[in-house]
Amino acid sequence: MKIDYERFAGKKCRELMQIQERFMEQLSIGSYQHWYYDAELALLRLYNDATDQLYLKYIPIGTFSLTSETWMWSWFNDHSFEPNKDSTLAVREFGIKSDYPKLTAGTFPADEFDCWEFAGISLATLEGIGVYRAATEELQSYLLITAVLEEDSREVIHFNQAKVECKIHGRSRAAFVCQHLNLEHPKGFEEAFETYKGMGLSEDDDFQAWCDECEKVRIRNNGWNEYAEEFARIKLVCEYCYFELKSFNCL
Ligand SMILES: [Zn+2]
Ligand SMILES: [Zn+2]
Repeated sequence: MKIDYERFAGKKCRELMQIQERFMEQLSIGSYQHWYYDAELALLRLYNDATDQLYLKYIPIGTFSLTSETWMWSWFNDHSFEPNKDSTLAVREFGIKSDYPKLTAGTFPADEFDCWEFAGISLATLEGIGVYRAATEELQSYLLITAVLEEDSREVIHFNQAKVECKIHGRSRAAFVCQHLNLEHPKGFEEAFETYKGMGLSEDDDFQAWCDECEKVRIRNNGWNEYAEEFARIKLVCEYCYFELKSFNCL
């Protein structure tokens, strides 16, 4: 027998509210005044200051536009960059089987009540621990929280590392090389420490490299001083550029 959508969605929404109450209370979600998320890592940081914070892993469910009063599922959203956004296609598949149009169309007029129903259905389908709504004046993003992350976990360390935007490679961690290194003539490649592509870095470490000439100047000056630094003129590059430079310049 087919259950009608309103009844089904209402039930999932009530189930969500129960889970949500525990989630809000146990993690003191309401005590954090600010939020920030990194879409590429699908990681949400709730915080008051540098020491009072919580890191959460999420799946983006969808967004509600307050200006157009429309809902958009994240699988449909070209501006959603989370690598796990297609998990929400499982909700769509369920919608197709059950013939529930609100779960199958990408975007359509809706109200906030609909949104919480979608959140409840997503939570039941994708197995989350709660829902966080990140709201700006125009947009509400419904995020399905799937895990709490430790502050010293790899993902959180990655999240907190400085990022650069490269025209060729997109966004990645920052890396630093001397002004002489390029992809035209190999000039040697000295590093602050042994590196490999994709390696984890502790909070205080950066990828840093310089050419053989810089190394000579550095040794002559007993390490990095004003003069050696002026000679090197270290510049910022992306992590991918760094490893391209490394393989080209290693003599
Ligand atoms: Zn150099
Ligand atoms: Zn690059």
